[in-house]
Amino acid sequence: MAFSEKYQHLIRENEPLAPYCWLQIGGEARYFAEPNTLDDLCGLLAEAHQQKIPVRLIGGGSNILVREAGVDGLVVHLATSEFSKIQVSEHSLIAGGGAKLNHVISTAVGAALAGLEHLAGIPGSIGGAVAGNAGVINDDIGSRVTRIQAVDRTGVLNEWTRDSLQFGFRRSNLDDVIIVEVELSLEPAELSELTRRMQSAWIVKRAAQPASGTRVVQAFIDPSGTSISDALEAAGLKGAVEGDVSLSARHPGFLVVSGEASSEQVLALLERVTRAVEAQSGIQLQSRLRIW
Ligand SMILES: Cc1cc2nc3c(=O)[nH]c(=O)nc-3n(C[C@H](O)[C@H](O)[C@H](O)COP(=O)(O)OP(=O)(O)OC[C@H]3O[C@@H](n4cnc5c(N)ncnc54)[C@H](O)[C@@H]3O)c2cc1C
Repeated sequence: MAFSEKYQHLIRENEPLAPYCWLQIGGEARYFAEPNTLDDLCGLLAEAHQQKIPVRLIGGGSNILVREAGVDGLVVHLATSEFSKIQVSEHSLIAGGGAKLNHVISTAVGAALAGLEHLAGIPGSIGGAVAGNAGVINDDIGSRVTRIQAVDRTGVLNEWTRDSLQFGFRRSNLDDVIIVEVELSLEPAELSELTRRMQSAWIVKRAAQPASGTRVVQAFIDPSGTSISDALEAAGLKGAVEGDVSLSARHPGFLVVSGEASSEQVLALLERVTRAVEAQSGIQLQSRLRIW
C-alpha cells in the first residue's frame, strides 16, 4: 500500500467511480478517499505528493466523464459533514467545498439573502461550481465569491482573497487546488420575493433539460456567435446517436446515456459531432466535460 498506516483506513482500492458520476459510467480509481477532517485531507495529499501519486477531486460528478480505464491515482471526494457545513452571517455565507450547490442556494434564500437564487437547479457541489464558475446567462457564481480556502497539491492549506481570484466564462484559476471553503457576498432581500425568484429559476432550468432521473450531462460550451442548438441543427446532428449514447433532440447540448453505454461511446460521439460541426460551419466546439 502506497499510503502510511495513519491513512490506510481512509483508502479504498479499486473503487468504481460510476456511482459518483451523473452518467454512471467509467472505470475505477486505483485509490479513493473520503477524508473526515481537514488534517486528514492535507496529510493524504502530502503523502500522495511524496509518492508521486496523481490526485483528482470529484464533487457532484455532474461534469466529469471517466474513461473505462479509470484513474491510476488517488480520487478524493469531499463527502463528509466536515466539508458540507453551511453558515450564514449578516451579508455573507460560508460553505464547505463539498456542500451541494442547491443546499447553499436554499440556505441563502431561507436566510433572506439574495445573489444565488438565479443559479437554482444547477447540479453539483459548491466547490465544483466555483472551480468551473458555473452560471446561467448573465450570472455566475464567481461574481459572489469573496474568499476561498483551498489545499494545494502538496497538502498545504492557503487562503485566496478576492484580488487573487480570477473567473472567466465557465472557468477559474482554481483548477489545481482543492477548494474546502467558500465565502460568498450576498444582499438582504425580502424572503417571499427571493423564494419566488428561486422557484422560477428552478422551473426554467428544469424545462431546459432532459427529465430528472435521466443520465445526462451538458456536452458542449455554447459557441460564441451562435447557439449550440443552431450549430447542431445546421450540421444535421440533433439527436445524433452512438451506441447507447445520444444527443438530446429536444434539449440541444445535453448528452444522454442509457443501457450499456460506455465512456468510449461518449467520446466517439463527442469527436464525431465536433468534427462535423467544424466541417460544416468552421465552429470549433469545446467539450464542457472534464475527461478523466
Ligand atoms: C442536468 C445538468 C444541468 C447543468 N446545468 C448547468 C448550468 O446551468 N450552468 C452551469 O454552469 N453548469 C451546468 N451544469 C454543469 C455542472 O452541473 C456544473 O459544472 C457544476 O458546477 C459541476 O459541479 P460538480 O460538483 O458536479 O463538479 P464535478 O463534476 O464533480 O467536477 C467538475 C470539475 O470541478 C472540479 N472540482 C469539483 N469540486 C472541486 C473542489 N471542491 N475544488 C476544486 N475543484 C473541484 C473537479 O476536479 C472537476 O475538474 C449542468 C450539468 C447537468 C448534468
